[in-house]
Formats: sequence, structure tokens, C-alpha cells
Amino acid sequence: MIPIILFFALHWYLSVFAQSFFLHRYAAHGMFRMSSFWHRFFYLFTWITQGSSFLNPRAYAILHMEHHKHSDTEDDPHSPHFFEDVISMMLNTKRVYQDILSGKYDAHPDVSIKDYTSWKFVDKVGDSWITRIAFCVAYTFFYFAFAPNYYWFALLPVHFLMGPVHGAFVNWCGHKYGYSNFDNGDQSRNTFVWDLFFVGECFQNNHHRYPRRANFAKRWFELDLTYPLIKAMNLVGIIKLRS
Ligand SMILES: [Zn+2]
Ligand SMILES: [Zn+2]
Repeated sequence: MIPIILFFALHWYLSVFAQSFFLHRYAAHGMFRMSSFWHRFFYLFTWITQGSSFLNPRAYAILHMEHHKHSDTEDDPHSPHFFEDVISMMLNTKRVYQDILSGKYDAHPDVSIKDYTSWKFVDKVGDSWITRIAFCVAYTFFYFAFAPNYYWFALLPVHFLMGPVHGAFVNWCGHKYGYSNFDNGDQSRNTFVWDLFFVGECFQNNHHRYPRRANFAKRWFELDLTYPLIKAMNLVGIIKLRS
């Protein structure tokens, strides 16, 4: 049982960290820079940890900046206030993401993402069905090897769809439930205790107010779990925070 719990926790946290640190704060917002070595390191890290639900960083970045631009309006790719349920919201998110990926989506003229976010080889391999299925098979083998009984296999769909599961929570709850520190003209909210599972991503209200600020926590009792790691990486020179 312990290997399964550890595997689940590790996959959950490494994947949501990759999303928050690399896709969100770096690729979309450019909150810090890194050398080409570390860029490639974290690109691979994001692919491996997201595994079967790997998101193309550049497409993610454009999708996300569209969300900031149109937060909680009809043009927001994933506002919970324009969809009946979380599944339809995520299906629309997937549709917009696929359109961005295939070049069919016209992003807002203000939304321009630098090409440093691309690594075509990893994008191609990570997005192929063979790779995605191979990751799913690997997760399933792990469960065959270590799960004490078949009830534990109910967790496998979360592994298969780890990225969308995180996205569903953050996008739906982060703009619907919780408290606000700022009036941003949208419905963004903060949810502190839940955020311990989402390493900063549920401080949507703070983040929409200060989209270039690397620390998503603002008040004394809030804690953004990714930020201490960002500070440490900045201190030892792995990344360079923009001033
Ligand atoms: Zn948001
Ligand atoms: Zn953002």
C-alpha cells in the first residue's frame, strides 16, 4: 500500500509543480529566466512528470494568456461562469488548446509568446499517442506490482489524466469558491487550505491582481508552496527572477 500512496503523491505533486513552475510562471508569464541547460532540464522534467497528460508549453502559454486577457468573460477559454459543469468547461479548454496547437486559433493580438518555450522534438514525442499510452501502461504495471487489491486501480484514471484533473480543480474552484483580497473585475478567488494540494495555483485572485509576481501568496497567513523553491533556485543561480 505504501508504494502506491507514495507513487500517487509523487506523481500528483511533481506534475502540478511542473505545471505551476514551468508552464505557468515561466512559459506563460516569463517571471524568471534560465540557461538553455536548465530550460531543457525542466522541459524534460515537465514531460516526464506530466507523462500521459503532457501539455505543449507554448500552447499552454497562449491558452493561459487568453484566460488572463478575457478572465470570466465569454471569451475566457475556461471560466466556470459560462459552463454548466466542470466537464463541459474542460472539453472547451481542450478544444481551444487543440486549435492553438494546430494553428487554427487566432489569439488576441496582445498575446504573444516568445519561441524560447518550444522544444519541437519533445513536443512531438510527448504529444504522440504511442507515448501517452506507454505512460498509461507503465502506471498500470506499477499498480499490478504494488497494489494490495484491485480497489486501488480506481486511482489509475487520475494518473492517466493528471494534468486535466489539476486544471479542472484550479480553473473551476479558483474562479468560483473562496475569498478575494482584490477587486480584479472578474470572479477570481483564493482558497488557501485546498491550495496545499495545488502549490500556489489556487491563489487565483492574488495572481490575477499581480500576474508578473512570482509569489502567489499575499497576506501573512497565505503560503504559496512553489515560491520558496523559486527563491532557492534563484539564490543558487538555476533561475534568474525578473526584477
Ligand atoms: Zn484565473
Ligand atoms: Zn497566470
